[in-house]
Amino acid sequence: MNLFDAIYARQSVDRIDSISVESQIEFCKKEVTGESYKVYTDKGYSGKNIDRPAFQDLLRDIEAGKVNRVIVYRLDRISRSVLDFANLIEVFQKNKVDFVSTMEKFDTSTPIGKAMLMIVMIFAQLERETIQQRVIDAYSSRSKRGFYMGGRVPFGFELVETTIDGIRTKMYKPIEEEAEVIRLIFSMYSKPQTSFGDVMRYLEEHGIRKRDGKLFNRNRLRDVVINPAYVKADYQLYEFFKAQGTNIVNPPQDFIGINGAYLYSGDNLKRKTISLVGHTLVLAPHEGLVDSATWIKCRSKCLNNQSVARPIKAKATWLAGKIKCANCGYALTAKIYKCKTKSDNRYYLCTNKYHAGGCHFGSLDADVVDDIVFKEMQKKLAEFQTLSKKKQDGCNLQVIKLKTRIEEIDKEISSLLEKIASANDTVMQYINNRISELDAEKKELGAEILSLDNNHTNDVGEISGYFEHWDELSVSDKITVVDCLIERITASKESIEIKWKI
Ligand SMILES: [Zn+2]
Repeated sequence: MNLFDAIYARQSVDRIDSISVESQIEFCKKEVTGESYKVYTDKGYSGKNIDRPAFQDLLRDIEAGKVNRVIVYRLDRISRSVLDFANLIEVFQKNKVDFVSTMEKFDTSTPIGKAMLMIVMIFAQLERETIQQRVIDAYSSRSKRGFYMGGRVPFGFELVETTIDGIRTKMYKPIEEEAEVIRLIFSMYSKPQTSFGDVMRYLEEHGIRKRDGKLFNRNRLRDVVINPAYVKADYQLYEFFKAQGTNIVNPPQDFIGINGAYLYSGDNLKRKTISLVGHTLVLAPHEGLVDSATWIKCRSKCLNNQSVARPIKAKATWLAGKIKCANCGYALTAKIYKCKTKSDNRYYLCTNKYHAGGCHFGSLDADVVDDIVFKEMQKKLAEFQTLSKKKQDGCNLQVIKLKTRIEEIDKEISSLLEKIASANDTVMQYINNRISELDAEKKELGAEILSLDNNHTNDVGEISGYFEHWDELSVSDKITVVDCLIERITASKESIEIKWKI
């Protein structure tokens, strides 16, 4: 049989820094020595595992004894996991296949090439894990502890030095006279009929001014009432932000009604007044000034930018952050109009409505929209019951648990491999035993995942359960379910389009 050289190229969707598949192939062609070659290409696949179609084709051809050498542009094109790689090298060796990487100039037909290969892969993996871990640690520890991240100190506070978890940082401390003004502003503006203009006039008449001696204008007042640094953050506030689609760093049980909070935003500041989607809320170390009910009243008024608006009720918005205007792409928000004679009316309005030249979306009956989406979700689930082969592990806790354990095992094996270089015989024996134990456990877990994948009644059962008791679910549970199933919803008067995640 004529053996051929196999060129393997891979590029993942999210890596803009990686070289294109076409260029990878060009590089690899220069290394071809045999008479013929075959190209295997995986576009849009990551190197996290070897679950890629072209790569699986390549493996089949290797096992069938058709391949002389495998050529890649760089080692990480084959796999980013040391363990996968080690297993693959075994498969290559068993089938007498050599492995060439153009970038690192490795050729496993030489003994030194073989040794170098393993070492480079181990280091690459370690480096990647360390860097990732460092980034995660830095972010979560900084924000979870509520570190002051800079920016203008809001009226009512001064900045004081403090030490949190042994790290020196700064935090807000109320200035009592200014804090009184803040409480007054919130208390006045929380009344449905009071406008910023009313508050402005009152402050002016009473000679209350900013630090620079100037009067409070509308913009400054708005800055005040939208700033969560002033609120005593409790569970109600947590629900409010959750329903608005904000990322919340601290768990709900940390919202005990004392701390103020920081709101970080990637977008420009103007967007804060119309939408909180995608912003990040973190509890701050200082004590807030205003109770959450008052704060939420003011904040909601500002979100709707309408002086008589009622506060948004959390139950109105389980599609928050998911539903967009088909006209302009802005988020839709739910708004409740109180009715004395019958039950309240809920409407979806485009958040772009109040801008200059704003959107002419109008309004949609929120009950009707929610009902349509709910029915579509049920329909989607019925499809699952018939299409039981379809892969769907995003919502399956059992599979996630098993996969998490496998990741832990991979980590432990990597760290064991790291110790090989300095190991004596006893340690080496321990490492060998431990690795075979871990390998065995991993195989079992893999088999379990496979059996779950083949039998989806579990997933479906789990989600169907949610639907039966839909009306009893809390808003945050509803949002969790919606988030599992739906990427986004685009709504107009004519149609409601749902983009599914599954
Ligand atoms: Zn719109």
